[in-house]
Amino acid sequence: MGKLKIAVYWAASCGGCEISVLEIHHHITQLMDAADLVFCPCLVDTKYADVEAMDDDAIDLCLFNGAIRTEENVHLAELLRRTSKTLVAFGACASAGGIPGIANASTLEALMERVYLTTPSTDNPDGVMPQPSTDMGEGVRLTLPKLLPMVKALHHVVPVDYTVPGCPPEGKQVWRVIEAVVSGDLPPPGAVLGAGDRTVCDECRLEKRDTKITAFVRPHELIPDNTTCLLEQGMVCMGPATRSGCDARCPDVNMPCRGCYGPAGDGFNEDAGLKMIGVLGGLLEPGNEDALRSLMDEIADPVGTLYRFGLPGSMLGRAAQAPGNRDDAE
Ligand code: SF4
Ligand code: SF4
Ligand code: SF4
Repeated sequence: MGKLKIAVYWAASCGGCEISVLEIHHHITQLMDAADLVFCPCLVDTKYADVEAMDDDAIDLCLFNGAIRTEENVHLAELLRRTSKTLVAFGACASAGGIPGIANASTLEALMERVYLTTPSTDNPDGVMPQPSTDMGEGVRLTLPKLLPMVKALHHVVPVDYTVPGCPPEGKQVWRVIEAVVSGDLPPPGAVLGAGDRTVCDECRLEKRDTKITAFVRPHELIPDNTTCLLEQGMVCMGPATRSGCDARCPDVNMPCRGCYGPAGDGFNEDAGLKMIGVLGGLLEPGNEDALRSLMDEIADPVGTLYRFGLPGSMLGRAAQAPGNRDDAE
């Protein structure tokens, strides 16, 4: 058998998922023996036209990271779906929209105005905004890909074979996926690879003592007792609603889980934020409704805290994308 062909693509991505591929450490030499990297914009100068010229299923494995934010992202998702035998939603952004997906809490217009006109550090007195097409004179026209009205996860635009969660996925997960492809020993399509089927709490060494929460604190406001559950000390820790598999690495160093492995349970259609609201409800001291409401109001940035990695696929996100609520609705 010849060498496998592997692609690593970034859509709306920070680049951290690419770095995580390097975290397979010494296995990188095994990977290089077994496979050629045929498309990876941050490492290899393959042009889009080269990929467009490929036959269907020419790539054995594509690790697609980043959310779907632009028409270019959609084009590459469709192209890599056609040219890849195995397409993996790699990392939290591709799996569930990730941090770019928090943008769905605003309209595209409000977002553009904030970013290009009103942030404290913006110096743009003429109100210049990016344009999809700019005539530079002398016959030169520069184009930018159009933004979509809403950020999406990869599976919202093309069928995905496997999901590898995490922000970013850990090296050991990455290697498991590559090993499975190299050996041909892949689980049935649809599987979440490199994660467990329990919650982060199940892997966490911090002890729950059934203490009720009387105030919420942010991590910089407290030196926590490093034997006790952070949630019970008032930090919003997403551990009860998040899929296991990372060995509870954030709570292990006294930082609350932010939910990067996605919702525990039946997959990315679960709503981690809603589940977490239920968990918080059970941990608050019963009292009058106003007192409880003002306690909940203490949670800083509730959307960014409860939906940091999964707003586009959540019930909130689906409601926002419903026809009539979308600014691209016909
Ligand atoms: S999952 Fe995390 S590391 Fe990967 S692209 Fe998104 S933000 Fe970056
Ligand atoms: S610190 Fe977080 S992950 Fe650990 S037990 Fe408490 S809620 Fe669960
Ligand atoms: S503890 Fe939570 S945020 Fe941290 S790596 Fe694990 S799943 Fe991600």
